[in-house]
Amino acid sequence: MAKEEVLECSFCGRKKPETDLLIAGLDAHICDKCIEQAHGIVIEEMAENSSSSLTSELIVKKPREIKEFIDQYMIGQDQAKRVMSVAVYNHYKRLLQPVTKDEDDVEIEKSNIILVGETGTGKTLIARTIAKMLNVPFCIVDATVLTEAGYVGEDVETILTRLLQAADYDVTKAERGIVFIDEIDKIARKGDNPSITRDVSGEGVQQALLKLLEGSVVNVPPKGGRKHPDQKFIEVNTKDILFIAGGAFSGIDKVIGKRLNRQAVGYSASIKVDKVEEENLLQYIIPSDLKTFGLIPEIIGRLPVLTHMNPLDEDTLRAILTEPKNAIIKQYKKLFKMDGIDFSINENALMYIVGKAVEYKLGARGLRSLCEAILTDAMFELPSTDEKQLKVTKKYAENTLNKSTLKKLKAVS
Ligand code: ADP
Repeated sequence: MAKEEVLECSFCGRKKPETDLLIAGLDAHICDKCIEQAHGIVIEEMAENSSSSLTSELIVKKPREIKEFIDQYMIGQDQAKRVMSVAVYNHYKRLLQPVTKDEDDVEIEKSNIILVGETGTGKTLIARTIAKMLNVPFCIVDATVLTEAGYVGEDVETILTRLLQAADYDVTKAERGIVFIDEIDKIARKGDNPSITRDVSGEGVQQALLKLLEGSVVNVPPKGGRKHPDQKFIEVNTKDILFIAGGAFSGIDKVIGKRLNRQAVGYSASIKVDKVEEENLLQYIIPSDLKTFGLIPEIIGRLPVLTHMNPLDEDTLRAILTEPKNAIIKQYKKLFKMDGIDFSINENALMYIVGKAVEYKLGARGLRSLCEAILTDAMFELPSTDEKQLKVTKKYAENTLNKSTLKKLKAVS
């Protein structure tokens, strides 16, 4: 009889009858209440540790190091890399500033970024690479699907749904993530620029986006959309989320050219203008050009860092094929190697691919589809043969590409 009465919780001393559950260890016992309390302590500790580890993760690299990291994955675009590195560095310095204000009362503002450049010039790549380096949640959203609340399409809040998903619903993590808003130019309002065919509702979306960009607490539907009306909203503060907007802004070169010409007239500097016209006009872009294009001034103000991507020339395209860490050709090499096949491609074949990408105006995006078209047959056949080598020459590339796949590529372009 005595034995049962002796059993008690080794932590609080409660006797077994006073507990709902007493769990035996090697030579101790613990009751349900102590387990609950201990669990609470564990959770609290973990939360503290994770927020301090979040901060320590954020001791990010210096701009030069950030650029060196991007260099591994991306060819050229030096100006954009420099501007982005500084913006990201400053953004994270801002996150590290103490919550209590310094005596000087200076508050560093957000450095959201807007990237202007033709499609396929690496806007998404640079944003993605930075997110990889910082180890923060990252998501890409397409501005074209966004609409004002009440219209068919997605509310702007669903942007944050994606970010939450990327952060495995860890709100603290999501609140320090990076959002890449693609095709921001497509929500420009009909401006002075005749090439823009979007209706005025673009302006409404811009207004809705403002709320997110400027930093506020937003009610986010965790599953997104309006299909789940019963879902509970999650509050997300966008104050520390870095927004990077990208767009091709096709036709903006004319806006820039016009402005430059107008400016130049006053100085009668016609020689300078001739020179300017020949070059890549995007490099002269200033915020007011975005306004002329149809972005509202408030949005431009919330995307204070403006930079551009250069069009990719043949040399850059050639380098993209083989040089970056994840270069396409390196990937094929690895794929073939898994089947014990040694894959090589000669310089002429590479230049042929580059030429085709330029010819079809496919940019860097086209390099992959061209390689795929050239190598699909080999990737299909070789694993079932004893062949241990694949050498791609220009002739091989020409022949395979001239088959039906080429027609498909033409259709895409
Ligand atoms: P954008 O967002 O400007 O339309 P992406 O970033 O999606 O273009 O680029 C398209 C593809 O081209 C990506 O898969 C990327 O790997 C490649 N790419 C583009 N520019 C570069 C570059 N400068 N260096 C390496 N790869 C590039």
